[in-house]
Amino acid sequence: MIRLSFRLIPYSHEHMLLVVRDVTPLARLEQVRRDFVANVSHELRTPLTVLHGYLEMLEPEVMPQLAPILADLRGQSRRMTQIVEDLLTLSRLEAQQQINDAERVSMRALLSTLKREADGLSQGRHHVDIVLGCDNDLRGSTDYLHSAFSNLVSNAVRYTPEGGRIQISWQATTNGGARFGVADTGYGIPAEHLPRITERFYRVSTSRSRESGGTGLGLSIVKHVLQLHQARLEIESELGVGSTFSCVFARERLLAPEVVTEEAP
Ligand code: ADP
Repeated sequence: MIRLSFRLIPYSHEHMLLVVRDVTPLARLEQVRRDFVANVSHELRTPLTVLHGYLEMLEPEVMPQLAPILADLRGQSRRMTQIVEDLLTLSRLEAQQQINDAERVSMRALLSTLKREADGLSQGRHHVDIVLGCDNDLRGSTDYLHSAFSNLVSNAVRYTPEGGRIQISWQATTNGGARFGVADTGYGIPAEHLPRITERFYRVSTSRSRESGGTGLGLSIVKHVLQLHQARLEIESELGVGSTFSCVFARERLLAPEVVTEEAP
């Protein structure tokens, strides 16, 4: 199979220039990279599961002097497992051209689930509230959208100091679409990092990300899930003030609210 890239450039009032490039070798390289990451992640999964299983079985009471080491080992093996799972999710997302299971994603239910998850992660350290300003649901993959939105919520909790506020919202936009937003009053992100923030393993502060249990892959997953839904990610952030991450969906992705009809007796 040959892959060609077409570019049509207007270069005078009446003329257009068509540039066709053979990008087959580039596409092949890209495929090799994707397969490699997917295979490595897959191969690491089994040995990690075994290690993790044994570590969970070891009782610290047997050798109390090793208890802190054991706790560290467990934490690190949990982190590695999470990185492998996130890499596999990314590989699956990259391999998919479109979502084949477009279903009704109930936004009311999803927002309540996200609020529960945020409260669970925060353990009462933040004030979390939800704003449901749009009745429409989304057409897409519930699992993928849940995973993307959860990543944004978990970031808001992890990068907001104690006592901060987090708002999860679903609101109509002026052009008939809708936006899912997560706003926090956290550390914020310096403007120069914003263009690269959705790249794999890109972190503003590696230590803060690691300490809070991050894999560095969350926003890449968000970006890919949104691409599959023809949506875009908008980020507004001010250092020391907070950040707002918004997922903007077009009108075509929205579903009118479900009409619940009472059955005749
Ligand atoms: P991580 O697992 O490190 O959180 P992500 O891809 O989810 O990876 O995020 C990438 C980086 O973006 C993070 O390491 C952090 O520096 C920054 N970031 C993401 N969300 C926020 C937020 N709500 N507030 C401040 N910084 C954030």
